[in-house]
Amino acid sequence: MNEQKKKSKIIKYSKLFEKNKFSPIRSGNISIRHKRKNLDGFLISPSGKRNFELSSKDIVFVSMLGKAEKNKTPSSEWRFHLDLYKSNYCNAIVHAHSKFSVICSCLFKEIPAFHYMIALTEAKAIKVAKYSLYGSKELSKSILRAIKNSKSCLISNHGQVSLGDNIDQAYELAEEVELLCEYYYYCKLYKEPKIISRKEINMVLNKILNYKKG
Ligand SMILES: [Zn+2]
Repeated sequence: MNEQKKKSKIIKYSKLFEKNKFSPIRSGNISIRHKRKNLDGFLISPSGKRNFELSSKDIVFVSMLGKAEKNKTPSSEWRFHLDLYKSNYCNAIVHAHSKFSVICSCLFKEIPAFHYMIALTEAKAIKVAKYSLYGSKELSKSILRAIKNSKSCLISNHGQVSLGDNIDQAYELAEEVELLCEYYYYCKLYKEPKIISRKEINMVLNKILNYKKG
């Protein structure tokens, strides 16, 4: 995909943030891995703009050295995007302050295997990264720890991060994670939900991972 197409995808999904009230107003950010000439890096949404107002010229290229292109300011949370790309976990990242991911990130230490679709994250639970100041190196480290061997995590008192081999996958996973958080929240309101056994969730994981490969 060329640079312009990637920028269009970032804008399309940023607008959906607002349209679907998924990550309202200026919250959340989206990036896609990108190589500009010989420079490895990623394209990311800018700092401080309303999601539905973004246009192509607002999207910022940041190199793998953490340097943003001239006269542009990337999202204040660019650092964990950089560290995730360095760790080679993904080609696209969606970070959202989606309602139930925020609520669950404030209430719980993890979302366990209460529903088999948890396996869409390629893990048996959605972990919650420790709270730190947004944009900080500490927060980035906590996110990397929580998302290890998974495609998604929550960030304590903040929101969620979902990864994908491409942006469409990353956004779809972010939507799935939001739904799972909503289900879990309502289950917990009533009582402690039943948890799927390790053996059963492993069977789901194998099935999903084989399906993805196939
Ligand atoms: Zn955030």
